[in-house]
Amino acid sequence: MKVLIVYWHPEPLSFNASMFRAARDTFLQAGHEVRTSDLHAMAFDPVSSRKNFITIKDPSFLKQQAEEAYATEMHGFSEEIEAEIQKLEWCDLMVWQFPLWWFGLPGVLKGWVDRVFAMQRTYGGGHIYETGVFTGRRAFLSLTTGGPEESYRKGGFNGDILGVLRPIHRGILQFVGFDVLAPHVVYGPAHLTQEQRHGALELFATRLLSIPSEVPIDVGLY
Ligand SMILES: Cc1cc2nc3c(=O)[nH]c(=O)nc-3n(C[C@H](O)[C@H](O)[C@H](O)COP(=O)(O)OP(=O)(O)OC[C@H]3O[C@@H](n4cnc5c(N)ncnc54)[C@H](O)[C@@H]3O)c2cc1C
Repeated sequence: MKVLIVYWHPEPLSFNASMFRAARDTFLQAGHEVRTSDLHAMAFDPVSSRKNFITIKDPSFLKQQAEEAYATEMHGFSEEIEAEIQKLEWCDLMVWQFPLWWFGLPGVLKGWVDRVFAMQRTYGGGHIYETGVFTGRRAFLSLTTGGPEESYRKGGFNGDILGVLRPIHRGILQFVGFDVLAPHVVYGPAHLTQEQRHGALELFATRLLSIPSEVPIDVGLY
């Protein structure tokens, strides 16, 4: 497989950082090709603006999707955005590694999506969901929480984790055509013992090895 891992956490000694390294090393040792976007190390700027482009369609009014469509036609994405889009186009499995922040993606990772998932190049023109640009490729979320597992079950005080992740699963990944595999969640790593954290990393590596034979999940339409 060609695996793209997109990762953000502000602390290189964090548990997320350990999961990121475990994923990269496990896939490489299993013989897969791996590319990464370590957004913190890259100092990736999440703020979308005209700097996404080297072309300008309308200098008087910035309409991002119109500029994206024009940049697609004119090969007009900035070097930084073009490089990220090419990684997306290259992979057949994409993994996002992040801490759950406010029931969603942390801002830098969300900003990466805002800037990289460009209209006409990665979606649009009738190419969404089942006819999406990335049809036939797979993706999954690998994340940590502060809350315990029972709080993310149906009836738990945070609600079902698949409900929490649905805007990402349906509104981003499936929207551009990816098949979604089950998320990998390590609940409350800060509250685990060192031994339990080592165990969680081993379980993660074991799960990664089974990814080639996994089937997509039903993310639920509710
Ligand atoms: C702005 C914000 C919003 C948030 N919103 C939510 C929310 O909506 N829902 C929610 O549930 N939580 C929320 N949280 C909490 C957040 O999700 C957790 O704090 C985070 O996911 C924990 O993961 P971490 O990588 O930061 O853990 P860390 O605190 O980095 O790691 C836990 C421990 O693991 C240790 N560790 C690192 N590597 C290893 C290793 N290889 N082996 C063993 N131990 C290791 C670290 O030293 C540390 O002691 C929020 C936090 C913030 C700051």
